[in-house]
Amino acid sequence: MSSKIYSLIESELKVKINSVRSVGGGCINNAEIITDNFGNTYFLKTNINSPPDMFFKEANGLNELIKASAIRIPKPILINEKFLLMENIKSSSKSKNFDENFGRAFARLHKYAGKEFGFYEDNYIGSTPQKNISDSEEKIDWIKFYLNKRILFQFNLLEKAGYSDDKIRKGISYIEDNIENILEGSENIPSLLHGDLWSGNYITDDRGEACLIDPAVYYGNREADLAMTKLFGGFSSTFYKSYQEEFPLPDGYDYRENIYKLYHVMNHLNLFGGGYYHQTISLLNFYRK
Ligand code: ADP
Repeated sequence: MSSKIYSLIESELKVKINSVRSVGGGCINNAEIITDNFGNTYFLKTNINSPPDMFFKEANGLNELIKASAIRIPKPILINEKFLLMENIKSSSKSKNFDENFGRAFARLHKYAGKEFGFYEDNYIGSTPQKNISDSEEKIDWIKFYLNKRILFQFNLLEKAGYSDDKIRKGISYIEDNIENILEGSENIPSLLHGDLWSGNYITDDRGEACLIDPAVYYGNREADLAMTKLFGGFSSTFYKSYQEEFPLPDGYDYRENIYKLYHVMNHLNLFGGGYYHQTISLLNFYRK
């Protein structure tokens, strides 16, 4: 990594860096664990090609999640356009009740509610912009927020990127006309959401409990967060059972789940292309009578 970054860290934190170890595993960024002259460790993410506000948005998301005091979140320490230095989460093996505790903690995160849908700033979902600044109706109406800021926003990106076609257009038009029926029975509560929780976005901390990383935070309907956990799998039935015990979902979640998966699948089509086209179509068809 650039020695400028190390010098900045040393001068801001008033420490000397003793060692730097590269860690793999990230999708987008470079990652290193830094040890200072007091033996403290830090986790450093760098990316010279990321949008200049990306690490600020990630840090603001982590800080928002910390407010809920529901689940372990690494604390941001120093942020700049080129890097994010945060608390290093030392890992150990999963505790005996890992899944149960994780499900409960995730439910407690969702009990932390905001006043309106969205967030005080736009951020990113992966490297795609995610729109959170809502108009006066979207702020109080989840269905409007979700249709405009999530589904139609990704659809417009598909159009611009040339991934859309008549099948997608017809499916989206059906969703637009029927969104009130599809999302009927939804809570209208702005829960604090991680926003991008798949199995690569949690790690196990030194107590053997879950710690969330890499969020795409906003206040929204918690079913959107749960649907994301289902998209690629990796969460156990115990996780969902204890979530449900702590904070039961309203009836009809199973029917609504696919429309929440749709946002992420369209985002994947936008980011990675072709392979996600058929999944987009099948999620759209799920709702067409
Ligand atoms: P990317 O943004 O490139 O996807 P991640 O934030 O997912 O990077 O981090 C990459 C990997 O580094 C994770 O899979 C995880 O194993 C590890 N990691 C992330 N954040 C921390 C942290 N604060 N402390 C320790 N390890 C971390």
